[in-house]
Amino acid sequence: MNDAAPESRLASGPAKTIRIAIMLASGNEVCFACAVNDEGVVTAARPVARGDVRSVLALPGFAQRGEMLVHNHPSGLLEPSDADLEIAAKMHDDGIGFGIVDNAASRLYVVVEVPRIEEQIPLDPDAVSALLGPDGPVAAKLGRYEDRPAQREMAARIARLYSHNGIALIEAGTGVGKSLGYLVPALRWAAANGERTVVSTNTITLQEQLVGKDLPFLAGALSDQKVRFALLKGWRNYLCLHRLDVARSAGASLFESGAAAELEGLARWAERTTDGSLADLPAAPRHDVWDEVSAEADLCTRLRCEHFSECFVFAARRAAAQADVVVANHHLLMADVAVRKASGNWDEAAVLPSYSRLIIDEGHHLEDAAAAHLGKNTTRRGLQRLFGRLERRGKGLLPALERKLASADDLLSAASLDLVRARLTPATNTARALAARLFDLLDEWLTGQRDTQIRLTDAFDDDPVWRAGLGTTLDDLLREL
Ligand code: SF4
Repeated sequence: MNDAAPESRLASGPAKTIRIAIMLASGNEVCFACAVNDEGVVTAARPVARGDVRSVLALPGFAQRGEMLVHNHPSGLLEPSDADLEIAAKMHDDGIGFGIVDNAASRLYVVVEVPRIEEQIPLDPDAVSALLGPDGPVAAKLGRYEDRPAQREMAARIARLYSHNGIALIEAGTGVGKSLGYLVPALRWAAANGERTVVSTNTITLQEQLVGKDLPFLAGALSDQKVRFALLKGWRNYLCLHRLDVARSAGASLFESGAAAELEGLARWAERTTDGSLADLPAAPRHDVWDEVSAEADLCTRLRCEHFSECFVFAARRAAAQADVVVANHHLLMADVAVRKASGNWDEAAVLPSYSRLIIDEGHHLEDAAAAHLGKNTTRRGLQRLFGRLERRGKGLLPALERKLASADDLLSAASLDLVRARLTPATNTARALAARLFDLLDEWLTGQRDTQIRLTDAFDDDPVWRAGLGTTLDDLLREL
């Protein structure tokens, strides 16, 4: 029951707890983790940290998802400071609300409400399957319908996965009609729960089939719901209007020859293209020309660009942000994962808009894209170049540093010079020799293998090459590095 005054967000019980805890802390700031009911009223409070008159620790770990973190402002002014707003934003991302009270706990200023966890509406697998059945809307819309029980079974199974937040590996042979088999549940889920699905494919052909044929068809067939979809490509697939301007004014100085006419052609095409992407060009442009005019995230000035409002990249991203189904390729998906992994952002838009459901079609190509974006790459030449930059035949960064330190006459420089001579230079030489040995051993070993692509498993511990020194060489090299 809510025993708070009608306008109050603080019930009398927790208000008393807060008041007493603040009194016991001599009126200083105290932080509380509070339970909040469905009407947003604080129904319980427990003190979790005490500070001084100006601040108190408010750490995300103090409160559980669904609770509100509340602290008092002894001044009685409940406006949040900049630090309060920053913490409130972090709390909200963790599903926690944020509020400020006065010392008498008579007023509560809610900076951020507790984010509500939406109840999911499960899909009825039979109903989803029926949409693809002989009496369903897909059959009615198709000129020549053929019942495909495997497709309906697949759609029903995927509907169950959506409802239970499941993951599955599904193999569908030729002729199953798998794209409709997953698009129908994805669209039904979006209609019921408003959650977006990303469909990732390997080939442009499949992407074009999905956005050019299947999804427009379903938009007509599923007339009881909105079908919003978008195709999102990597930056370099789109023309950058700003770079096109720059290239046109630089003209001959930027290109070898014959590019001016191509640039003018691109400018004319830019006025009539629907999406400004390479695929919409009637003929492929010259590589060097496209390199100069394609969009690049690092070069884009975004809101400060004079073309921002008509920019093709941002038009595609805006469309994707509104779509229930976003079609992308594996490389874009993995670039998105890499950015999210590095930034810890799993909720907001990154390379792709935020999404919670994922369908990977042509999944057998995903590994290559994952390795390209999430893997690490080391080559003999790359390591040699790195060591060469440090020291090579008396040249490089270390000898330069040595000379600089030797010309100084203070104690710190003398100690640093000792360090370079006794540790860094010998370590560089040792690492260079170890890297050469490591790659010699790998070369020799790979020559005897049938496949040049090797998966290293625990069983590799028993391989003769590992015992012949590959393992210890690798350990030694990593230690030196
Ligand atoms: S917003 Fe960025 S990508 Fe778009 S035209 Fe401007 S610079 Fe190019």
